[in-house]
Amino acid sequence: MTEKLALLGGTKAVTKEAGDIFTWPIITKEHEDAVIKVLRDRSMSGMDVTKKFEEEYAKWEGTKYALGFSSGTASLQTALFACKVGVGDEVIMPSITYWASGLQAYSLGATVVFAEVDPLTLCIDPDDIEKKISDKTKAIVVVHYMGYPADMDRIMAIAKKHNIKVVEDVSHAHGGLYKGKKVGTFGDVSGYSLMSGKSFAVGEGGILTTDDREIYERAVAFGHYGRYRPDFIETEYLKEGCGLPLGGYKYRMHQMSSAVGLVQIKYYDEQIVKIQEAMNYFWDLLEGVPGIIAHRPPKDSGSTMGGWYAAHGIYDSEALGGLSVTTFCKAVRAEGCSTSPGCNLALHTHPLFHTIDVYGHGKPTRIANASRDVREFDKNLPISEKIGSMTYSIPWFKHMDKELIEQSANAFKKAALNYKELLKVDEGNPEKLGGFNFFRHS
Ligand SMILES: *Cc1c(COP(=O)(O)O)cnc(C)c1O
Repeated sequence: MTEKLALLGGTKAVTKEAGDIFTWPIITKEHEDAVIKVLRDRSMSGMDVTKKFEEEYAKWEGTKYALGFSSGTASLQTALFACKVGVGDEVIMPSITYWASGLQAYSLGATVVFAEVDPLTLCIDPDDIEKKISDKTKAIVVVHYMGYPADMDRIMAIAKKHNIKVVEDVSHAHGGLYKGKKVGTFGDVSGYSLMSGKSFAVGEGGILTTDDREIYERAVAFGHYGRYRPDFIETEYLKEGCGLPLGGYKYRMHQMSSAVGLVQIKYYDEQIVKIQEAMNYFWDLLEGVPGIIAHRPPKDSGSTMGGWYAAHGIYDSEALGGLSVTTFCKAVRAEGCSTSPGCNLALHTHPLFHTIDVYGHGKPTRIANASRDVREFDKNLPISEKIGSMTYSIPWFKHMDKELIEQSANAFKKAALNYKELLKVDEGNPEKLGGFNFFRHS
């Protein structure tokens, strides 16, 4: 007999206090001192601390160059510019991601083409990338979604075959491995958000990494300019700007953020080992439970989930007699464990990618400079469109607490094993699950 659900009058699975297991980022006196030093030195807008952080980050990531930014959004826009994405070009990106993976293409006069995601990895589907390539495709943005490393072997082979650049959006996966090698080192250039909610969290900020000197120079020229790298002033793109930023942006990183970053980078590897241990323990406990599928790479693959940003699980409704993920989550929450259905809503269903005229072109920006209409009128990405019914958030444990993790796993297990009881009260899913700005950050 399975235990009675708390939702139906049973006792709660989770009774233990969470303590600091969800507290993130971990901020100590060392961070406070680093920030106060920047304030006392009045160097908030300086460059010395940021340059030191860039050096450390490049060393840690294993790339030749790293360039700090005011946000992950800015780093990804710059990555696209650095790949020479311009007027009339197309950028392929997954429909399931945060908008800032590629919406910035609009500001470059380019457009985006959405590709389907894989239902188990939730990352861009290489087969669909091939279908979406045209003679206008300049770049593919790959997102290691919620930590899961995308299929880089296949993606890089496709990109090479068609001579297309690859931008990795590593905002969810800092420190993650794909077949033993760090994500962010496969594509031509990578952008990372470092905002407070991410696993590598410094506060508002982002970073770009690359091994490609030309890409790095273009990135500096776009929103950093010669003052940032006076030693580069004679290089092609900085010369072209005659001392001004080519893009007209100022994207320098705030030194209170880079100061936090310099402390974070000392401890991040240790922290993600703890996260991995805790999260893998949670999923191990749920191995074989019907309806519940772990969102993590196979154990012998050499791939990891980095810091498990915004950890989620995959839901197999059919295995539970068609029970909606909404009712499933409701039952888990009643057990005392926080969860909610869905993840990012499919971007190709948002009006910004269909009808909105941002720049006054007299037509939707999505097709303002495009040589063909790339909009998805018939909504042709079936997995992305139903992703909300296939996913749910799971607790993002930051260190091991066996008892709490066991209780939390038991909350999910109870909901799954009692699905027949839940079917009797199931009201189905609402039309939309998740959101376009879905992840709540404290
Ligand atoms: C957070 C995030 C970004 C944007 O980063 P900001 O630092 O918030 O500008 C880009 N891509 C993904 C996938 C993200 O989650």
